[in-house]
Amino acid sequence: MDEITRQIFAAQRVIEDVYTYYAREACPCAFPRFRQLVGFRDEDYGTGPVACFEQQHMVFLATRSDSSIGTRGVFQPIGEWESVADSKKRLLRCTTCGSDWIVEYTQYSINLSREFMILGTISPIRAQQIGLAPEPQVPLVAGIHGPSVCALEKCRAFFRSATENEMYEYLTAKRQGINDFTTFDLNVDTPPDD
Ligand SMILES: [Zn+2]
Repeated sequence: MDEITRQIFAAQRVIEDVYTYYAREACPCAFPRFRQLVGFRDEDYGTGPVACFEQQHMVFLATRSDSSIGTRGVFQPIGEWESVADSKKRLLRCTTCGSDWIVEYTQYSINLSREFMILGTISPIRAQQIGLAPEPQVPLVAGIHGPSVCALEKCRAFFRSATENEMYEYLTAKRQGINDFTTFDLNVDTPPDD
């Protein structure tokens, strides 16, 4: 197995673990760093075509409710795919908090397609934000790919190379005070649970 194939498999396992964690804690919408990763778009960097391995797996699992892993039913499709120029898009609704998302799919070539997810513009996010705010670069195991070295270089600012652990920790990190019971209220007789 070559190095990039190994990285893609490793990254996919991390993504699946991250979904399991989100489902246990709240839903993906509660984590701004989930939003950061699934929202990557090469056009925001003034270039293309570029796709991100981790993002593709995350969106793939979000949009396939018949997936056999733990992401089953996290998002429910609303309506059918709608064609817009060279792309297709459809609405998804989080089955936990009810937030609406738009997923957009573009087939760049036989070898390259990309999907991204952004929040629906009509309704705000409904989940309480328990995840940490994004940093400028997402730590990723596999990263981005595309046919143009120049385009890849322009999108390079989106991520930094990282280990599987770093990637998992980044995507699942919670804000301080969330599930952090080290501060005791002196007026309370019994310490908080856990
Ligand atoms: Zn949600």
